[in-house]
Amino acid sequence: MPPSLCMRCSAQKAVVKRPKNHHKLCKECFLAVFEDEVHHTIISSKLFLRGEKIAIGASGGKDSTVLASVLKTLNKKHDYGLELVLLSVDEGIKGYRDDSLETVKRNAVQYEMPLQIVGYDTLYGWTMDQVVETIGKKGNCTYCGVFRRQALDRGAKLLEIKHVVTGHNADDIAETVLMNLLRGDLSRLSRSTSIITGNSSNDVKRSKPLKYAYEKEIVLYAHHKKLDYFSTECIYSPEAFRGTARSLIKNLEKVRPSAILDIVRSGEDLARLTPDKGQAACACDDGEGAGGCGSANAATSGSELAQMEASLKQESEDTALETEITSKPKEDIVKLPVRPRQRKSQKREPPPSQLQTLGTCTRCGYMSSQEICQACTLVERLNKNRADIAI
Ligand SMILES: [Zn+2]
Ligand SMILES: [Zn+2]
Repeated sequence: MPPSLCMRCSAQKAVVKRPKNHHKLCKECFLAVFEDEVHHTIISSKLFLRGEKIAIGASGGKDSTVLASVLKTLNKKHDYGLELVLLSVDEGIKGYRDDSLETVKRNAVQYEMPLQIVGYDTLYGWTMDQVVETIGKKGNCTYCGVFRRQALDRGAKLLEIKHVVTGHNADDIAETVLMNLLRGDLSRLSRSTSIITGNSSNDVKRSKPLKYAYEKEIVLYAHHKKLDYFSTECIYSPEAFRGTARSLIKNLEKVRPSAILDIVRSGEDLARLTPDKGQAACACDDGEGAGGCGSANAATSGSELAQMEASLKQESEDTALETEITSKPKEDIVKLPVRPRQRKSQKREPPPSQLQTLGTCTRCGYMSSQEICQACTLVERLNKNRADIAI
């Protein structure tokens, strides 16, 4: 059978079958279509203002690397007039961040963007390694996630930047929608679907330009654009409930490729029906996959995705053209540890029916529904722990 031609240009051989809609495209058309779709998201949501300075939350993982690359391309192509900088958070995890931060440093050179790194130790007095030393591995992703949210905002403030973009993709949003649906938490669900969230207390806006981009397409984009990104497992275990939601979505996607976007759209529709949609994200988790343990994490992405990355790597060595992505099972993928009871340790759900009133933390001024925000509570708990040990 002759290789299929690209459905868009009818000139080149198709090398990509889009996970989103199974369209067969050549490399150039795929890259162009992907970029056009992100551009459409940016324009239709009026994400940026001309002359705006934007910090790209950069982890060195595929999502934020693709985001940086695409924004650089679009900023030039469509003359957005943006000033782009990379902002990285160093959680202080030996052997994990060290390498990924090296990737971000290379990206800064490749994309000619300034890079700012903010560390948990500076911000909170604790590195993640020290947190784990103190509390053990159980529940540490809660700390990591809560700290990360504020770290980006604080880093942005340091740079006097009022807009942070993150690499959250459609899969991340779909997971969050599903998780909040399963928890019966409609108000958090509605906040998690907004493309722009803000923190009125410190004036830093957040947005997700890749909100409608499929994770698999992000991997394909990174592959065909030959982007330099860091693909490894966070050595601390991921959030169990998110992992479950993720597997569920990956399974749905197999029988219905549009499922991911359908869930995102359903979440948006539900948000419109939820009264508490005005306020933006609080410090709680509203689906912070990107930039953290989740996004660079092959295991939580489902072993299928990890296999896809592995097979793409192999493919790049092999110049043969393929019309479809085939994934060969690889046994070196670390299995996701199953810890069904982990959720108990994360008691952060407010009563679902009760609307949260978002004020600010009396300690740090970060937006919070509590008097003391989650980060400050966690730091206090850690410090108390340290004091106890000292005695
Ligand atoms: Zn084409
Ligand atoms: Zn606080």
